[in-house]
Amino acid sequence: MKGMIKTGLLVLGTLIVQLGYGQVVNKTESYKKTNAEWSKILSPEVYEVARLKGTERPGSSAFEHSKEVGTYYCAVCGNALFKSDTKFDSGCGWPSFYEPLSKKSIVYHTDKSHGMVRTEVVCGRCDSHLGHVFKDGPPPTGLRYCINGVVLDFAKAQTAEKKYNKQQTAKSGS
Ligand SMILES: [Zn+2]
Repeated sequence: MKGMIKTGLLVLGTLIVQLGYGQVVNKTESYKKTNAEWSKILSPEVYEVARLKGTERPGSSAFEHSKEVGTYYCAVCGNALFKSDTKFDSGCGWPSFYEPLSKKSIVYHTDKSHGMVRTEVVCGRCDSHLGHVFKDGPPPTGLRYCINGVVLDFAKAQTAEKKYNKQQTAKSGS
């Protein structure tokens, strides 16, 4: 009898794990994953940039010259990153912004790879690599956030506002 209960619990546990596997990432603790786990969840293109700190081919993102009004989100976790009114045409080959949406949007790291010292920007919530920030941007900040389009999700203004408000409500409720 004891053995049967044990087996039953084991099956139940496996079921829960399997059910949780396909769910959309929406809890803070679930962003702490190994690259092996991320590689099963993300598309190869997003995984390459977000988790292996890759760089998409310049000029390959449709967002680079987009003038649509709305909000750009992290494609991995849905964190709100940039507003379209802080976006500008830098001519560098990647979507560029002069200011993040909020202080929670971005975390900064020193990046000494490729024989340069640059400031890497990662998502403030899931730690995914987004791109770099340079000090040759336009006013008012003088900054240029050079971001890989593949790790961005865009929502047009109205949809974005709803999504953002929903997130705020969910946050204050938890
Ligand atoms: Zn994120």
